Amino acid sequence: MSESRSDHGCLQLSQLSLTFLGAAGTVTGSKHLLQVGDRRVLVDCGLFQGLKELRQRNWEPLPIDPASLDAVVLTHAHLDHCGYLPRLVAGGFRGRIFCTPATKELCSLVLPDAAKIQEEDARTANRERFTKHDPALPLFTQNDAARALGQLQPVGYDRPVPVLSPNVRCQAPEVSVEFVNAGHLLGSAFARIRIGERTILFGGDLGRFGRPVLPDPSPPGAADILLLESTYGDRLHEPDDNGERFARIVRDTADRGGKVIIPSFAIGRVEEVLYWLKRLEDEQRIPILPVFLDSPMAIAALQFYSARLHELDADLTPAARDVSAFATRRMTVASAARQSADLVASSQPSIVISASGMATGGRVLHHLAATLPNPRNTALFVGFQAVGTRGRQLTDGAKTLKMLGRTVPVAARVERIDSMSAHADAGEIMRWLAGFPRPPRMTYLVHGEPTALDALRVRIADDLHWPVHVAGYREQVPLDLL
Ligand SMILES: [Zn+2]
Repeated sequence: MSESRSDHGCLQLSQLSLTFLGAAGTVTGSKHLLQVGDRRVLVDCGLFQGLKELRQRNWEPLPIDPASLDAVVLTHAHLDHCGYLPRLVAGGFRGRIFCTPATKELCSLVLPDAAKIQEEDARTANRERFTKHDPALPLFTQNDAARALGQLQPVGYDRPVPVLSPNVRCQAPEVSVEFVNAGHLLGSAFARIRIGERTILFGGDLGRFGRPVLPDPSPPGAADILLLESTYGDRLHEPDDNGERFARIVRDTADRGGKVIIPSFAIGRVEEVLYWLKRLEDEQRIPILPVFLDSPMAIAALQFYSARLHELDADLTPAARDVSAFATRRMTVASAARQSADLVASSQPSIVISASGMATGGRVLHHLAATLPNPRNTALFVGFQAVGTRGRQLTDGAKTLKMLGRTVPVAARVERIDSMSAHADAGEIMRWLAGFPRPPRMTYLVHGEPTALDALRVRIADDLHWPVHVAGYREQVPLDLL
């Protein structure tokens, strides 16, 4: 980072810049560095996931010393937005991490869990020696995760709070953040950062319109600079079929006497899957099957969802606005490892919802390893599958899959339902952009794979005639705002 100091020791205020340290040209690793004079705020602090060359970036040092950051702002609790926090704290960051109260609650689940998986993977790799690293080390530990949680500073929606106080000597203005509900996950937000009179809107991940469980994304308000996610920038989701494909997949698998394994993100997606299963049961469109929620984190997250129904969609009717909104007729939660192992061993027709959603780790690997070789079963993917993940390999038609140190043949049906995505598609992104009262001076596209980024860039330039730029990895752009 270039730094030039003015005569009186302050960095010049014109030095206002953004550096894209992740989710640039790819969908994971969100980290955007905002430099205001000599002060630094990191917006989102996510893990790179998927391809090995991406995951390798988690091990590379940041181009800045974590101790030099003044604050972190989090848009939501998905690991690709918050999962690097323990590593940042282990690297010396001691400041506050601003987020919504629900994001804090969900981080208290996902960060220790991610650390535990890191530690377990390292231990397994060392024990079974399927690593070239000697010894394999975790990226961060449960201790690091606990320290990061201690630095979280919850702030309610729609309430601007100072992140950096004004520096009178340098005539540096106050920097504040306001969280606005993004409808993407419980607690998810756009981070509206104000520097004096100017506004930078960090879009985080954008939710969808007219879906159950989560509210529509809030209107954006005016912004001078916008960072916009592009995950589905080149695609439209399947039209809403009122759960018909989901129902057919469950019925067909039940007819074959098989199990439906649903790899699911433990928070957010689980609630939508359960909402649909309950509704399809109530409408007698699927048989009443045992439904197992095999994820301690998902079970805990369900409690947070049910405690914050006021932040969720109004379509959860008053009668349904309690935990039973998500409880199917024969639902069992499996929190103990022993229950999970019994469930893996059982061939009883059933529906098993387990994490992780892209089959990158967690209990679902054991379920997949046990069920994929049998054509009676179905693996049903209900979310975005990043390049390089097992979920992507399976949905791309892989005939074998490496997991748990062995090669598993794939004979089960593999299905994907995209309509349950929590990300806005291209049409929904354009609908949300139409809510800006005036065009931002610049829109930076982040959080997408190259074809999606480019398609959205062309669409915004052609349809809206807005200045738009696809962010490059580690690219630094000056913000000409003051
Ligand atoms: Zn997300």
